[in-house]
Amino acid sequence: MDRLGEVLLKNVSVMKSRVTKHAVYGVLIAVSTIILATLLSAQYQYGGISVENIVAAQKNNFTLWIIDGMPFIFAFWGQYVSASMALQASTMVLDQTNELRNQTVALEYQVMHDATHDSLTDLPNRVLLLDRLDQAIHTAFREQQRLALLILDLDHFKDINDTLGHHSGDQVLKYVALRLQGVMRKSDTLARLGGDEFAIMVPLAQERNDVHIVVEKIQNAFISPFIVGGLSLDVQASIGIAIFPKHGKDVDTIMQRADVAMYVAKQNKEGFAIYSPKLDKHTPKRLTLMGELRQAIENGDLVLHYQPKINISGNSTIGVEALVRWQHAEHGLIPPDDFIPMAERTGLIKQLFFWVVKTALAQAEQWHNEQLKIGIAINLSPSTLLDADLPDIITGLLASSNVPARYITFEITEGSIIQDPDRALDILVRLAKMGINISIDDFGTGYSSLAYLKKMPVSELKIDQSFVQDMLKNDNDAVIVRSTIDLAHNMGLKVVAEGVEEKEIVVRLKLLNCDIIQGYYYSVPLNNNDCTEWLRSHTLDIIDNPTTG
Ligand code: C2E
Ligand code: CA
Ligand code: CA
Repeated sequence: MDRLGEVLLKNVSVMKSRVTKHAVYGVLIAVSTIILATLLSAQYQYGGISVENIVAAQKNNFTLWIIDGMPFIFAFWGQYVSASMALQASTMVLDQTNELRNQTVALEYQVMHDATHDSLTDLPNRVLLLDRLDQAIHTAFREQQRLALLILDLDHFKDINDTLGHHSGDQVLKYVALRLQGVMRKSDTLARLGGDEFAIMVPLAQERNDVHIVVEKIQNAFISPFIVGGLSLDVQASIGIAIFPKHGKDVDTIMQRADVAMYVAKQNKEGFAIYSPKLDKHTPKRLTLMGELRQAIENGDLVLHYQPKINISGNSTIGVEALVRWQHAEHGLIPPDDFIPMAERTGLIKQLFFWVVKTALAQAEQWHNEQLKIGIAINLSPSTLLDADLPDIITGLLASSNVPARYITFEITEGSIIQDPDRALDILVRLAKMGINISIDDFGTGYSSLAYLKKMPVSELKIDQSFVQDMLKNDNDAVIVRSTIDLAHNMGLKVVAEGVEEKEIVVRLKLLNCDIIQGYYYSVPLNNNDCTEWLRSHTLDIIDNPTTG
């Protein structure tokens, strides 16, 4: 018997026993009624209660005969009803349990689907593509097959977005997805990498030119114009191709080389390019670096520099901001702007962030041991903020560190909140509950929505350096700086001005009541030894509950 059957039987017997109890009461009541009726009949019909009179009443009184049948009727009826009710109830419960179980399975499936698919086109997203590519590479390796990865980027898509609006842009992306799906074979994978970038993974047969056939099919799909909002739009795509195993034997390299080829395709007339090592010369350094980043993180080729944040009123150091650099054997110290965006695109940002937090916590612990108890601020890129794993990753890292969470600040940009405000709020609230401070970085450059900002558990605003640097020359920037300071104070937040390079600006910011200053005027970002020296030789603002970073 299966488990469900057993549960059903057990439920039926439990319920039956309950109903049977009530049937027994019924029988007892019926028997009492018989006794009472017989006694009454003996008394009033036969002149007194005696054995003979009771026998006579039972023998001659028709009504008593009917009543005598009652216990049997009750017993039978009770049994019958109890059995059928119990059966019905139990089946109902089982049906509902099954339905709930099905709903849970469907929900789990939905969550998994959402995590691996793009919400606009419902195509696999980057995460799923990378996973499939990895599997396909293993299979192709085993079976000695070739595999092509095509990265496809729409030309001048930004113009469509800018002139016709995001809605039309989204419409075009949906149509492109539909057309590309028409071109695919069952064994191919089509994914949206983000923005106007798609990828197609194609297992190749042995013939040499079959990748050209795929390219031709894709290009044909773009011949007829796209009709959006009554307008006929001519949309073209540039295609970059890398082939396993010729151009790379792992996911990172294949992705990077297809990207390099796509960059070249943007510039040539054919609209597509197949990777070759000589293309590397014509592509920006960042593209060729992409394949090396994972190694760099694993080998510990990254370093953190720390820039002091100064309390404007007391000239004391209240914290430092950790800024990552890549120590490259060939290219020297590479600034974060050259590899962070790339880490975002390739999904390596999670590993990078993990490394940054771990390293920053270890450094902070060292300083704390020396009684240099200052806060440390860490930059969080948009995809890291929206990663649902973030709070747990942080909990884990904090658990193995002696630095209390209140010494940690995460700097996030407005853009990362706007991407998905509800999710951002949810995650920020969890981080804030742990005691971590949240700071809004590059304030003024994004589309801030005050409505969102008010809801977020934020304690600090950092005015973007572009406004700070020009505030003495440009009235607009001066107004922005002043109103940001007022706004932040009205919301109970501290204000940091970053990119402060001149004394005059410090003076002006003091007049405007800015709280904290960061910039070359005080110090450039320092390596760990230099920063330790700085902290030892400067007054530190050791407050027990710093809202700094
Ligand atoms: P950010 O968060 O706005 O960092 C401030 C940048 O301004 C730093 O550049 C810093 O060196 C620079 N800076 C500081 N004071 C001055 C000044 O007085 N004048 C000028 N001209 N610049 C100043 P850096 O280190 O090159 O970092 C650039 C960006 O890279 C950062 O901008 C941040 O968005 C990102 N970044 C840095 N480290 C990380 C990290 O660990 N994770 C993530 N996700 N992003 C990071
Ligand atoms: Ca920052
Ligand atoms: Ca900034």
